[in-house]
Amino acid sequence: MTSDNDLLRAAAAHAIAYAATIDERHATPTPEAIAALGALDGPLPDDPTDAVETIDLLARIGGAATMGSTGANYFGFVNGATYPVALGASMIVNAWDQNAALPVMSPVAAKVYDITRRWLNELLGLAEHTDVAFVTGATVANASCLAAARDALLRDAGWDVQNDGMFGAPEITVMIGEQAHSTLRKSLGLIGLGRRRVTIIPSDDQGRLRSELLPDPNSIEGPVLLCAQAGEVNTGAFDPFEPLADWVAEQGSAWLHVDGAFGLWALADPSRAELVQGLTRADSLATDAHKWLNVTYDCGIAFVTRPAALRRSFAAVAGYLPPDDGFEAMHHTPQSSQRARQIEVWSVLRTLGRSGIAELVQGTCDCAEAIAEDLRSCGFQVLNDVVLNQVLVRFRDSETTERLIAEIQRDGRIWCGPTQWDSGTAMRISVSSWKTNLDDARAAADVITACAVAVTPPPNLSGN
Ligand SMILES: *Cc1c(COP(=O)(O)O)cnc(C)c1O
Repeated sequence: MTSDNDLLRAAAAHAIAYAATIDERHATPTPEAIAALGALDGPLPDDPTDAVETIDLLARIGGAATMGSTGANYFGFVNGATYPVALGASMIVNAWDQNAALPVMSPVAAKVYDITRRWLNELLGLAEHTDVAFVTGATVANASCLAAARDALLRDAGWDVQNDGMFGAPEITVMIGEQAHSTLRKSLGLIGLGRRRVTIIPSDDQGRLRSELLPDPNSIEGPVLLCAQAGEVNTGAFDPFEPLADWVAEQGSAWLHVDGAFGLWALADPSRAELVQGLTRADSLATDAHKWLNVTYDCGIAFVTRPAALRRSFAAVAGYLPPDDGFEAMHHTPQSSQRARQIEVWSVLRTLGRSGIAELVQGTCDCAEAIAEDLRSCGFQVLNDVVLNQVLVRFRDSETTERLIAEIQRDGRIWCGPTQWDSGTAMRISVSSWKTNLDDARAAADVITACAVAVTPPPNLSGN
């Protein structure tokens, strides 16, 4: 029999070895490694099996079939890697296994929540009273903010959604940009406002909401929910927040929500002040820490600047729930029991500091620019203004671009995926890992260029 100590030591050793060797392996696992996952399968055991064997099997078979998304060479989606300090904090948090629902359940989670909330508001330049809630991701952060918006807007219109529901409620005019993220619509559907029952404001060629096409604010009767975006998921573009906030102020019964799943962190980089202008005037903002801040999954954050709005939407009542002194997470989020996500965020904020986070943002944006520059000079079309960490490229045409992406994924050294842009296929390159430096960026551009050559053999060779 192995002791619990041996078991945990073995698990920690596997985790450390994985983190230490991530850049020696390909961003994509081999087909053999994926096929070998079958070793995790079998009939549900009737009787107990050895725990160390379970950990070893998981580490060996599972670890070989991971995407290398914590390394320097993964550019897929907008995923983000993880800082060693976040991983370390996460290991400790998992050992503690605290329920962060209420301060009475975890003094350390409660204290770290208070600190992290203050630090985040300072870092992002949000008002001191801004409510901060940790949830699973930006989808749920958006949904939480939108629920708070819905409830506050209808409360002002004399309607109690929480008790009376949406049937018969005054109408809310919901406006979203043409390029709103798919999960924003999902969130609208979830809270009963409807995925399709929205007014779509056209976007420009970068995916920015065209504020000049908003209706006259005085022409709309009743509450308005205006959803904007900091960081379009393909181009990284930011909506023009100053005119949007002006519009909301003039309309009088409107709420401005911003989906900043990755882009919100640009607020921490002084060199991007122009891009974020007016952003902090929003009534609510959603972001992810597991993307660009490079914190472990899963961690989204909802910010609501209107006092008590989250609590009005999410408070629960039960006889065994004591009134508590501090921040009661379960009364500010859709969750009740929850892990103390704030602790990994705290560990990264403390370790990087303001300048470190600004450097993370700046450094990854510089890498995106370097990749764009290299690819442009090799004849690729860069479809976006590279204002952030996103590069959108097309090679010749949609069809060749699709073959290029397939070749990159087959090659495996780096990973990029497709998207649809401007009625065609494009390749999306997101530099979201703290590990990616300029050398990695240039090497990635070289891989892409080599793969492009592979899918377009010169005419004198193609006939053989
Ligand atoms: C990733 C993303 C989301 C969804 O975030 P999850 O953490 O996956 O729930 C929403 N909006 C934008 C702009 C995103 O990039």
